[in-house]
Amino acid sequence: MINVTKPFLPPMEEYNSYVKGIWERNWLTNNGPLVNELELKLKEYLSVNHLLFLSNGTIALQIAIKALNLTGEIITTPFSYVATTSSIVWEGCEPVFVDIDRKSLNIDPKLIEAAITDKTTAILATHVYGNPCDVEAIDKIALKHNLKVIYDAAHAFAVTYKGRSVFEYGDISTTSFHATKVFHTTEGGAVFTKDSELLKRMSRLRNFGHVTPETFDGIGVNGKNSEFHAAMGLANLKYIDEILASRKEQVEKYKVALKNLRIATPEILSGAEWNYSYFPVIFETEDQLQKSIQELNLNWVYPRRYFYPSLSHLDYVNDCATPVSDDICKRVLCLPLYHSLRSEDIDFIARLLLRVQNN
Ligand SMILES: *Cc1c(COP(=O)(O)O)cnc(C)c1O
Repeated sequence: MINVTKPFLPPMEEYNSYVKGIWERNWLTNNGPLVNELELKLKEYLSVNHLLFLSNGTIALQIAIKALNLTGEIITTPFSYVATTSSIVWEGCEPVFVDIDRKSLNIDPKLIEAAITDKTTAILATHVYGNPCDVEAIDKIALKHNLKVIYDAAHAFAVTYKGRSVFEYGDISTTSFHATKVFHTTEGGAVFTKDSELLKRMSRLRNFGHVTPETFDGIGVNGKNSEFHAAMGLANLKYIDEILASRKEQVEKYKVALKNLRIATPEILSGAEWNYSYFPVIFETEDQLQKSIQELNLNWVYPRRYFYPSLSHLDYVNDCATPVSDDICKRVLCLPLYHSLRSEDIDFIARLLLRVQNN
């Protein structure tokens, strides 16, 4: 069976050596030494100023929205994972969907200004598949209209734009370290900001609002992560360069194997170093996509429809017209991609897809 992804697991002895330390210290969570070490190593690896390790990427979005005191309307993308939208609604704000750009599949900056009202407080955009949004255009609009910017960078581990970590853009960037992501801690996530005041606020929000054991700075939540999750992260981080390199090779291999297949792939922002976190292909028709899924499934290959349906049609949002997102959602499919996917597997998948097209 070939799934869309397969979580990386480090050698068990390496994970166990961290676990042994946890047993010796008897310190399991609440900002322990492994959590601190992981935060430090990630800061170094990513060359970022600040980050907070959190329990998942969804709480990261919720904490970001709360820390910026956002209210009213938040402009967002309909083409993302459901957590991008649900976090906005969960925090009592209203998502206003702006359609995506057909080439990048990210929010289309040219359409943002028309969606701004006097209730708009922020833009929350996703770097879809790790491909950075047009951050310069978005930041310019935000500055002009005095809006905050949050980037959902759940797919964007190790991505850079003009030589800088993409996590450094926006007022806050969030990410996920879920088992299905390029770098993972089993469950986990993080927030990034250059603003040390915001960082302090988010670190309190992460820990019930505590300032001291007996005093609080407003309402907080439990967004902490544990020593066991940090141990997985530390063990995995040693292999991240290998993981990233193998994905790049696999995507290049796919592109050669699929050169006669009538598909499109997203255009990566110029100036960006991409992380090959997904391999999305866009078929010419939904029918072609359906037939391809059927053929792959018959052969025990399980791609995923990231993303379907368009978030603009969830039953808890105000339905917005997003024709490009609707169209892409119907035709896009993520093919299997993970560190141990073999060259033969890619050839096999390519043959099946070509057979469907040529039938
Ligand atoms: C995975 C993902 C999330 C949620 O992250 P979790 O760690 O699973 O909570 C949010 N946004 C996007 C775009 C994602 O892909």
